[in-house]
Amino acid sequence: MKKGILEIRDLRKHYRLRRTRLLKKPGSIKALNGVSLSISKGESFGLVGESGCGKSTAAYTIVGLLKPTEGRILFKGNDVTSLNRDQKREFRKKVQLIFQDTSGSLNPKGTVEWILREPLRAMGMQKKEIKELILESMNLVGLDKDLLGRFPHELSGGQKQRVGIMNALILNPEVVIADEPISSLDVSIQAQILNLMNDLQERLSLTYLFISHDLNVVHYFCDRIAVMYLGEIVELSESEELYRSPLHPYTQSLLSAIPGETGHKLERIILEGDAPSPLNPPTGCFFHPRCFRRMAICSSVKPQMTEVTKDHFVSCHLY
Ligand code: SF4
Repeated sequence: MKKGILEIRDLRKHYRLRRTRLLKKPGSIKALNGVSLSISKGESFGLVGESGCGKSTAAYTIVGLLKPTEGRILFKGNDVTSLNRDQKREFRKKVQLIFQDTSGSLNPKGTVEWILREPLRAMGMQKKEIKELILESMNLVGLDKDLLGRFPHELSGGQKQRVGIMNALILNPEVVIADEPISSLDVSIQAQILNLMNDLQERLSLTYLFISHDLNVVHYFCDRIAVMYLGEIVELSESEELYRSPLHPYTQSLLSAIPGETGHKLERIILEGDAPSPLNPPTGCFFHPRCFRRMAICSSVKPQMTEVTKDHFVSCHLY
């Protein structure tokens, strides 16, 4: 795997459940099952999959809001899982998160100015410096300074997401993890926010980890895409290649659901049943109970990630 600005190695996050009976071993929810990625500087990297597949757990674990059960997270080659408090604070400035639900992440009791000012004040910045930084950031995300005195409930969905973006960018990060940043917005606003994020990436030399359930959006926005299923990456490729030649049956089913011209020649694929519970994942390939191409080997032997063509990896016994 190439060295990147952000590297995730065999990341696992398991939640232990309470013992329900005295002699019964407590189970665990396996939200992440050995995720490995390497994101290059300046890249937009997409992580895509159904809701509950572990995408948001990956985001929260990378930024340190959740503690990994196992695995390593390297930022510029340094393992951030073993940093001291001061180093962790520095890391959190450099790797920021844009939340999916800005209504929930912006304090409803504070004005926009208060929301933006408090973390800067807590870092010891002076009043004048804070004011200048906030005004500069408002300008950067295209918000009028008159909105500084408003409360979150007085803002539109698009304005709230711009404040969320500003909150993430105000400390001048190098990597931004955007967790479904447009999924709660009206379609008409989604394109504006994506264009803003594109523009900011160029102006500020940002690296994005863009998380979404929508393969079409990720294809538009990202250079490379990893497809997740039940806490694992099942396919990873350059965005255009994945869109044109999806290899994993799960990726094929996701792409076949996109209406209109997508470049592939897939008939609509309807999967059987829902995704299995991460509490009790299937044996062998996790996708086998729903897979329309399963073979005898699939229910007992776990497939390994294989590079099928240059930089196009898939975890499936068909390859
Ligand atoms: Fe389907 Fe088997 Fe490939 Fe899993 S390994 S995706 S069950 S063909």
